Amino acid sequence: MIMRTLFLILTAFSVLSGPHIAARGVDQAIIQPPPAEFEVTFFPVAPYHIGDVLSARVTYTGEADIGGIQITAALADEPDQILETAAFSQNTRQANFYWLYDTQTRLTGFLSFRFEVPDFDLAWTQGVHLLPDPGSRRAAWSVAHSPCCTLHYLTGTDAEADLPGITAALEESSASVLAQFTAAGVLQENPIQEPLSIVLVPIVIGHGGFATNEAVLTYTQDNWAGIDFATLAHHEIVHVVDRLINTQGPRPSIFVEGIAVYFSGGHYRPGDALQRGAALLALDMYLPFSEIVDDFYAAQHEISYMQAAALVAYLDLLWGWEAFIDFYFNLPEGESDSEIISAALQASFGIPLDELEAEFIASLGSLERDPQVEADVRLTVDTYEMLRRYQTLAIPSAHFRTAWWPPVRQMREAGIVGDYAYREKAPVNLVIENLFIEAHAALDANQGTQAETALEKIDEILSRVEDAEGNLTPQATGWPLILHPHRIGRP
Ligand SMILES: [Zn+2]
Repeated sequence: MIMRTLFLILTAFSVLSGPHIAARGVDQAIIQPPPAEFEVTFFPVAPYHIGDVLSARVTYTGEADIGGIQITAALADEPDQILETAAFSQNTRQANFYWLYDTQTRLTGFLSFRFEVPDFDLAWTQGVHLLPDPGSRRAAWSVAHSPCCTLHYLTGTDAEADLPGITAALEESSASVLAQFTAAGVLQENPIQEPLSIVLVPIVIGHGGFATNEAVLTYTQDNWAGIDFATLAHHEIVHVVDRLINTQGPRPSIFVEGIAVYFSGGHYRPGDALQRGAALLALDMYLPFSEIVDDFYAAQHEISYMQAAALVAYLDLLWGWEAFIDFYFNLPEGESDSEIISAALQASFGIPLDELEAEFIASLGSLERDPQVEADVRLTVDTYEMLRRYQTLAIPSAHFRTAWWPPVRQMREAGIVGDYAYREKAPVNLVIENLFIEAHAALDANQGTQAETALEKIDEILSRVEDAEGNLTPQATGWPLILHPHRIGRP
């Protein structure tokens, strides 16, 4: 009876409200709430301004098989004009709408989009608040040429100001990478037929650099990721050259990263690869191969990279560089990286991977302990753990697991800069990033205690950010800043 009464009431309501909704199609669209299992993030990150070319990333958290399912996006007030169609990746369970809408001609206020997943019979609206055009955003892509490299940068950034020094550092890095591979006898001629493409961006994404078919590197005078530009450039150039010359067969991540770290003289911080590996072992931070070889990028980042470099250094010592590169360049296909390496080890040297690991550990254990290196290794790990904690809590678009790094070549071709050019910072960002710069400077000066103090302060602020669910007053973070940021990361 109750159900029947409810049904009648609802029917009466729908009759009354039916024509009303039909007449207000736009409003109807605006009130469709997003389903719980779909999360939309707009980029470039908030706050959004007139002039932004907006992208959207839709993440699916439900149980259904989402791979290949299509999703469309339109403006909510023009729902029939599809702006873009994207498909969900089975892997990431995400669909990306790159540069969906140019807000140049919009007015300030709320801009609403309509998303639709026809296969799931779902549609909803979601949007952003547009603030006025800041009027100061004039960055554009520009390019400089040198013998080794084609250097893409943004006008008005530190990279433009420091161009001569950067060019010199890149020339040096690429020459040294080529010399390092040549030493292994694998290069008959220079594999770089065309200059390497290097892109410099002023914002920190991930740990300050990533490479696809071109290397994208953070370049800013106040680099709170603390990475030495020349080391980072060297690391990423190794990846680019490696991909150019090692085109056959699998390339296990532990070797890919191990070679890059070994060649560039350290990961984040300079240091002898074997000594740092020995420090990890002594500090009980060593990760068994069974935990890192097959899922390298999921392992603790600094430890896995330092260990990878130590392994490559060890094999260089054991076999000689030429034999190691010959081994790495001629690996057989296999189900997993550990299988691939193990099979090759058996075939060439008659030993399985676990035996090699036991010898590797024994060799690291035989090195004399160095308290200075151990402190540096421990603090390096602590610093970057804290950096990722900051990224997770305050700027997830920069954390490597959730990073927003749209295809940079397409952006250059389309003249879009926003995703890499601008990040507005709140006082909490400035305070924390300044403390990171202090921590890095202290580490460089071998002042472990000062580095620890800076990290403790960051930890305290981040805990308050967590407790306040983001609603932290600037004063609670230590604002205003008293210290002038150190300038590091210059070539
Ligand atoms: Zn790398």
